[in-house]
Amino acid sequence: MTQEHSRNNGGDMQFADPFKSPGQWYKGNLHTHTTQSDGALDLPEVAARYQEAGYDFLAITDHRTVTPVEGASHDDFLLLLGTELDGDRGEVAESVHIVAFGLAEVAEAPQHPSVAEAIAWAKQHGGEALIAHPYWSGLVASDVLRWDGHLGVEVFNTGCHYEIAKGCSAVHWDDLLGRGRRVWGFAVDDSHHHSSPGDPVDTATAWVMVKAERLTREALLQSLRAGLFYSSWGPAIHEIRVAGGEVTARTSPVKEISFVAQRWAGRSVFAPQGGTRTEAAYRLRGHEEYLRVECRDAEGRWAWANPIFFE
Ligand SMILES: [Zn+2]
Ligand SMILES: [Zn+2]
Repeated sequence: MTQEHSRNNGGDMQFADPFKSPGQWYKGNLHTHTTQSDGALDLPEVAARYQEAGYDFLAITDHRTVTPVEGASHDDFLLLLGTELDGDRGEVAESVHIVAFGLAEVAEAPQHPSVAEAIAWAKQHGGEALIAHPYWSGLVASDVLRWDGHLGVEVFNTGCHYEIAKGCSAVHWDDLLGRGRRVWGFAVDDSHHHSSPGDPVDTATAWVMVKAERLTREALLQSLRAGLFYSSWGPAIHEIRVAGGEVTARTSPVKEISFVAQRWAGRSVFAPQGGTRTEAAYRLRGHEEYLRVECRDAEGRWAWANPIFFE
């Protein structure tokens, strides 16, 4: 976590800046099913698909079971143990799904735990937890505000987007950020690999790009806990710079770069019609409590950086 002085309220800001921090970039997916639950591909096949697509790591998260991954990792491709748990109802949601990933060893997954129990179980077993696909589940602000101890929410879930157009949960993330919760946004696939003819499959599509010292479970968890990553379904984010009361973002060619904050702050910056842009700047108004950058490319695909927090 980098501490830098900013002009915003004259106070300090906290920005886990993956673009400046030391280490290597590692591309991964933290939510993946296999034939051990309702995925269409078995473990060797799904791992091969991700490795061929240039991913460096993959968490296997079958429903209510920890699928062993022993022997599936290589020097340059790391499999992580995980599971997807469900138990509690939400205010309107029939069930809340929690992804547990980065477990230290194969363990017996709890069947239908409460959300708090699921998060605690992930941490007890050396891993971390995410609130999976809030929009798809039908979660509302009063639900997500009840839970602590997780790393954040799936800001994007490819499978949920392809299935029923409820893959993007940026509003749920902002509901948390706007109430002072310092949580991260994760883009994941879900990767059931089910598809109707002609439709795209949710395998090797979205990702987290993590800056870590090395490709190990411990190093990845350390960086993911610290927010040293960004999420994408297409664009690359190259840099987010805070200087002189201004936040500047540099990206791959996109149609729109947005600076998202709580109410009465933030800005969207568009490319000229028919063109693209690779940079945008936002002058801090002074009352931002958080500011995050997202961008959208010509294909309509987003990328999301983690927030800068202002004291
Ligand atoms: Zn789920
Ligand atoms: Zn799932």
